[in-house]
Amino acid sequence: MKVSIKIKFSIFLGLLLLLTVSILSTLVLRGIQNNQKKNYETYLNQQAKITNTYIRQISSTAAIEDTEQFLYKNAQQIVLYLNSINGIHTAIYDMDGKEIFNSMSYNSSIDVKDILSKSLKNQIAYKIVGDSIEYMAPLYNVDQIGVIKFHYSLKKDIDFYRDIKSLFISIGTIVFVLSFICAYIYSGKISKNIVNLRKGTLDIKKGVYNTIVPLKRNDELGELSEDIYYMSSQIEKNIKEMEEEHKKLKLAVQKLKALENQQKTFIGNITHEFKTPLTVIKTYMDMLDIYPEDENLLKDAKVNIVKETQRLYEMVEKSLYLSSLQKYDFEVQSERIDVKDILEEICSRMQGKAKKFNINIIQSIQSSCILGDRENLMHIFINLIDNAIKYNEPQGKILINSYTKDKKVFIEVADTGIGIPKKARDKIFEPFYTVNRDRSKHHGGTGLGLPLVKELIEKQQGTISLLDTKEKGSTFLISFPAL
Ligand code: ADP
Repeated sequence: MKVSIKIKFSIFLGLLLLLTVSILSTLVLRGIQNNQKKNYETYLNQQAKITNTYIRQISSTAAIEDTEQFLYKNAQQIVLYLNSINGIHTAIYDMDGKEIFNSMSYNSSIDVKDILSKSLKNQIAYKIVGDSIEYMAPLYNVDQIGVIKFHYSLKKDIDFYRDIKSLFISIGTIVFVLSFICAYIYSGKISKNIVNLRKGTLDIKKGVYNTIVPLKRNDELGELSEDIYYMSSQIEKNIKEMEEEHKKLKLAVQKLKALENQQKTFIGNITHEFKTPLTVIKTYMDMLDIYPEDENLLKDAKVNIVKETQRLYEMVEKSLYLSSLQKYDFEVQSERIDVKDILEEICSRMQGKAKKFNINIIQSIQSSCILGDRENLMHIFINLIDNAIKYNEPQGKILINSYTKDKKVFIEVADTGIGIPKKARDKIFEPFYTVNRDRSKHHGGTGLGLPLVKELIEKQQGTISLLDTKEKGSTFLISFPAL
């Protein structure tokens, strides 16, 4: 059974105070008892002394031969004398223990033999019976001549003791009840705070943080609440950091997987691209082995072997160039170049090929200068315009547009050709990627043109992107820092 801390604390405090009152009252009551005992002993002892003094007084006038009968003769006088002084019931006994005279108006049935025998042996003895004391002391006239007994009432003392005792019992009860109530109210506040703290820790367990408000208390509970608050914030921060790390890790893994896939495709492509011309060459060689006299085969083999060898040669050259560009930081022979000059020159060079396919090159070129390598720039724009011719349609157009904006020189190479499908847009700058292998191969393409172009542009602090236009065809946008 769960007993709340509030109840436990209240009972504990109540009992503690009750114990304190009990110990205190026991000590006080014992003190009272001792004091009362001392008082009646002294008082009765004094009465015995007065008696003996009185005996000595009256015995000095009596005859010596009366000594034995002295007590018998004077017992009544002595008792009356004492009665007149203290009003205590008194009795006198001779040395045989026989009562000579008593002042008691009541019939005392109390057995006093035990104390009488002691008193006859020259000792003071007493016993308490009910609320009175039977006190016996020896009487002297030179030697002991008898015993005097006082019947003394202790009622007042006993009543006083009882009153004090019941007062302590009442005080104890009141203290217990009051301390229980006070402790209950006070610990109620503390236990409320503890319950709140517990709620906070349960929230942390559930993953809900910072629900604890630090208590405005200048004690351990206040410190504990601050510590839990701090701990909660720290855990939340750490978990957030861990989640961030986890996200980053996940992203890195995804990127790595994508890279792995890219690499696989790249190797697949490379293998395919290199194997195809070699297979063609090998097939022709095998056929010539079988039919060495076939003139048509010989003619065909010559043309195709030359074509495939050329293609293979170009591929190897471009691959090596691309990988060297990616690997090494070549020094670029940068010079101030007006893009208008270079573009116009390329356009006029490409005009012949364009005409062959009935394609019109339209120029809208502004004069603007950049810092670049002439050879590289030629390579870049020849490649782009060559693609625009290769992937164009008869009667198609190529639009070369250049302008300066925001300290940058922009060159657009747009065509009205077959365009590039959306899903291929991200891949065209990857080595050996071709949207349509047959069409690309038909034009002697290798899938290495655009990666080389991109690499060369970036080497000259430029950028290249394929624009997402609504018009038919493709538009490449190139930019370089303007001079
Ligand atoms: P390729 O030597 O095969 O032309 P590129 O790297 O120059 O290789 O181009 C990669 C692929 O991008 C091409 O195979 C082609 O499918 C596509 N492509 C490039 N330029 C154009 C364009 N102007 N219009 C349509 N498709 C293009």
